[in-house]
Amino acid sequence: MRPLHILQLYLEEMNTYGDQGNLLVLSVRARRHGLVPVVHHHGPGGELPDEVDVVLGGGGPDAAQVEVQRDIVRIGDRLRALVDAGVPMLAVCGTYQMFGNGYRTGAGVEVDGIGIFDADTAAPAHGERLIGNVAVETTFAGTVYGFENHSGRTVLGAGQEPFGVVVRGKGNNGRDGLEGARTRNAFGTYLHGPVLPTNPAFADHLLALALARTGETLAAGDVDDALADEVRRGAARRVRR
Ligand code: GLN
Repeated sequence: MRPLHILQLYLEEMNTYGDQGNLLVLSVRARRHGLVPVVHHHGPGGELPDEVDVVLGGGGPDAAQVEVQRDIVRIGDRLRALVDAGVPMLAVCGTYQMFGNGYRTGAGVEVDGIGIFDADTAAPAHGERLIGNVAVETTFAGTVYGFENHSGRTVLGAGQEPFGVVVRGKGNNGRDGLEGARTRNAFGTYLHGPVLPTNPAFADHLLALALARTGETLAAGDVDDALADEVRRGAARRVRR
């Protein structure tokens, strides 16, 4: 049986709106596609595993980002090397911001980033948060639905590919119609929900990318999307309101 090594970053600190659901869904779907998920939890000060097939990181309040920033900078070289090697990653909200060039909080605190995405984030001192249901058109998983709640406004560098184009919601900054960022197989997005249970095509895309590195393909497997389809119909209704 093929193991799938999932590296989950900072679950204790960064797990807004049940982003842990991404880990659960990726693990369950991996199993249903005939893989054996092996979950490696990484917290501040920890050692990274030798084998990594997929990396996950969730959202978190500013204080949690400040708490983990030294560690994420410490492991930055390894994470960038994994991106270069084509390892798929999902970085949500607070982790997405730290996978960029950095984040200045509304209180003026500078949170370091590791530059996987050419993306700069800053929160206005007294600005409103960008909150609500979101639909994003992507090239790899069709329409992706989720929920955003962030104070940071992210602006992508000129050559930086986005995660997708906003159909409904605010996205990176509420101005340029872009959502998230993508570098090779690393995906950054503001979408909670959590995002993978609502968007199984995206979950399977991450699994397929992980296997493609060794020339393998994702087996059709024993997957039942009835529940996810129902959730997606609800999400589609909510963004139309
Ligand atoms: N603290 C960050 C912000 O408010 C990220 C929030 C989140 O991860 N939900 O922009």
